[in-house]
Amino acid sequence: MAPVADFEQMWRDLAPVGRSASSGGYFRQPFTAAERELDAWFVEQCRARDLEVERDRFGNTVAWWRPTGATGPAVLTGSHLDSVLDGGAYDGPLGVASALAAVDLLRERGHRPARPVGVGVFVEEEGSRFGLACLGSRLATGATDWEHARTLRDRDGVALEEALADVPRGEADLLAGVGCFVELHVEQGRDLVDRDAAVGVASAIWPHGRYRFDFTGEANHAGTTRMEDRRDPMLTYAMTVLAAEEQARATGQRATFGRVDVRPNGTNAVPSAVTAWLDARAETPEHLGAMLADVERRAQDRARHDGTGLTVTAESVSGAVHFDPDLARRLASPHGWPVIPTMAGHDAGVLSARGVPTAMLFVRNPTGVSHSPDEHAGTADCLAGVVALADTLERLT
Ligand SMILES: [Zn+2]
Repeated sequence: MAPVADFEQMWRDLAPVGRSASSGGYFRQPFTAAERELDAWFVEQCRARDLEVERDRFGNTVAWWRPTGATGPAVLTGSHLDSVLDGGAYDGPLGVASALAAVDLLRERGHRPARPVGVGVFVEEEGSRFGLACLGSRLATGATDWEHARTLRDRDGVALEEALADVPRGEADLLAGVGCFVELHVEQGRDLVDRDAAVGVASAIWPHGRYRFDFTGEANHAGTTRMEDRRDPMLTYAMTVLAAEEQARATGQRATFGRVDVRPNGTNAVPSAVTAWLDARAETPEHLGAMLADVERRAQDRARHDGTGLTVTAESVSGAVHFDPDLARRLASPHGWPVIPTMAGHDAGVLSARGVPTAMLFVRNPTGVSHSPDEHAGTADCLAGVVALADTLERLT
């Protein structure tokens, strides 16, 4: 059996797994060799701690610390081990390694939990392989139904059901006895840097929408077509990007065009069509709706000017998630931790939306960058996170 590793040793063990030698980023897509190596590492660490490992049929795992006499609703912590393509080291694994280290710290303190404590790992949190973010927690909570999910395919045409065939699974309903969930996560912004705090508590997740913009025009020769004779959807698209940026800045919200498809995509052709995706996030559903309406109005005005067409389709819109305010206050106030909102989605958001009282702890990220090799957290801050999580679990159990 492997020895129990401390946080820093765990972090050294994880560092090379799925790391690209050229970019320094991580490729830990669900059910690939790198992610399975992390899964095996997790199980080994749990067994070294005498935690009882349970699986569900979707590949999610919870390791239980259930000392004799621990009864009642369990306190679940943990996060995910998968990454986006070329992601950072901290998004996900920090919450898992910190959870194991927090269990060690509580044992060192001689704390005997009165309620079971679970350390969980949810699969495919990033949606980087099957396109649906928080897939593992959605399946575990029933927010997404298996009949729909089993047919989701990755870029190579492999269905989720096929990818899961070789994955160790069980029959457990991992959330059945769970009374609350606490997820520790690296911060994906600079709020804690600005507030000079190593640790913070999440108040809410902002509403989030993904919208497809289809711009249509007329393909033509880039040399012979006079400028005034063109119906160029690229111009309408370009102006729409600027309008979204201007509107988001003016109102303190977020708007990003990060993906675009151009047809025919030729250097010497006026395009016939441009499809682009707007990722928009805002403080409230009303702010989100108002921002989209403004961007769309300005895009339509420009389309009339350009002689192009535009249709906008909402591909997914998720409402705000408000974490349990009592829990957030109880965790934050004794330590003076700031309570801050986040603009990123998490498994904690899925559990919260399904009625599980949920809290999130954030650990400061000096670059503020995430989903990139530049994502970072200093060792001292990571250790402060472990103590914060242990204090939280001690108070809740
Ligand atoms: Zn994450």
